[in-house]
Amino acid sequence: MSAGTLLARHALLPAGWAGDVLIGWDDGGVITTVEVGHSGAAMSTAQWVIPGMINLHSHAFQRAMAGLTETAATTGDDNFWSWRALMYRFAGRITADQLQAVAAQLFIDCLRHGFTAVCEFHYLHGSVVGSAAARPAEMAERVALAARECGIGLTMLPVLYACSGFGGQALGPHQQRFRSDVDSVLAMVDGLSSLRDGQFEVGAAPHSLRAASLDQMAALATALPAGRPLHIHIAEQQAEVDACLAYSGRRPLSALFDAIAIDERWCLVHATHLDTAECAALAASGAVAGLCPSTEANLGDGLFALAPFIGAGGRFGIGSDSHAGHSPVEELRWLEYGQRLQRQRRAIAVDGRERRVGDYLWQAALRGGAQASGRPLGALAPGRRADLLVLDASHPHLADAAASEVMGLFLFAGNDNLVRDVLVGGRWVIEGGRHAAQDQVASRYRAALAQLREDL
Ligand code: ZN
Repeated sequence: MSAGTLLARHALLPAGWAGDVLIGWDDGGVITTVEVGHSGAAMSTAQWVIPGMINLHSHAFQRAMAGLTETAATTGDDNFWSWRALMYRFAGRITADQLQAVAAQLFIDCLRHGFTAVCEFHYLHGSVVGSAAARPAEMAERVALAARECGIGLTMLPVLYACSGFGGQALGPHQQRFRSDVDSVLAMVDGLSSLRDGQFEVGAAPHSLRAASLDQMAALATALPAGRPLHIHIAEQQAEVDACLAYSGRRPLSALFDAIAIDERWCLVHATHLDTAECAALAASGAVAGLCPSTEANLGDGLFALAPFIGAGGRFGIGSDSHAGHSPVEELRWLEYGQRLQRQRRAIAVDGRERRVGDYLWQAALRGGAQASGRPLGALAPGRRADLLVLDASHPHLADAAASEVMGLFLFAGNDNLVRDVLVGGRWVIEGGRHAAQDQVASRYRAALAQLREDL
């Protein structure tokens, strides 16, 4: 990495669009200068510049099975749980080399579409089922290596996965690889911490109320170093809510909030099934709701109560989770469209200050994603990472656009990829829509996929 400057004719700053913005960064990849109305020169210039988006929820290995579960079973009852059966088969077989190849492909897909950072919710701890034990953190290290190779920022979240249902049920045969306890997760956090730098952070993640007890979660939250993010799957499926009610008499979010002080450190992923009081409690806590609209649609999860959550001042970000999609445009578009279809209204994701849906969605998801990542991201501002996107000003979708229209055109005008160049941590990783390693990464991905699918 080396220091650099970019002169943006128009740049999306935290307070909105500004003109002739000089953005400078140091050789550590940190923004040092944001000067509006600059009249001098810069190392490069661009028309439309926006902050890179944070993908706050990813299971990288699931990139390999995206699109492979789209045939209806003869029983006609396809749901999350039938999808999970194939996911377990992939999870049981994928090797460290294959995971690194799949993650690299995913990260290039993400970068090309405008994600500049990822939070990896990582539960593939052990070795391939039936083979000799690897070091517990080896799989996580391979994901980190893939991120470094591709130049995407990463927050690694080793997952606590201790049981297979409410009340501490034993792990099933397909879940052995996920096995972990508070001490083993903390050991992974400790081991991975030697890799921490501007591009890499380590937090932790109790998988869900199904897979870890409240006591274990509290112990993990207490022992994790201060300021590190904590993520959890909270209420993705109605069946999960029903099981939690049957076990504890409480819904998942209420059970969690009763036991643990949930604050800004936390990201609650798939807060899909909340009642009105839970929605208000989540908003008031300062925690981030981790929304993954393409996966939640693909798995038939349900719709998040976005309008009341925004009305209560709630914070949210987006993730591509199972990687049925890998574009922030798709996630944000589906987030808004789901609400429109449900409410038979338009322009849902706005607040009292920002009435433009595209601008509101991008800025809100930046704020929530940055908080959930535990890294200084999400804004073109001094002290933040130099993560930004240059949109393709020559594309017909942006013809004759005013700054006030750009985010609406970016998110709601078709499926061409308008991301032309991507800077991450002060390094140009996508130029003219291409990553320097994309052909080599794609050929490794093809080989890994052929092996993986042969073994299924
Ligand atoms: Zn997930």
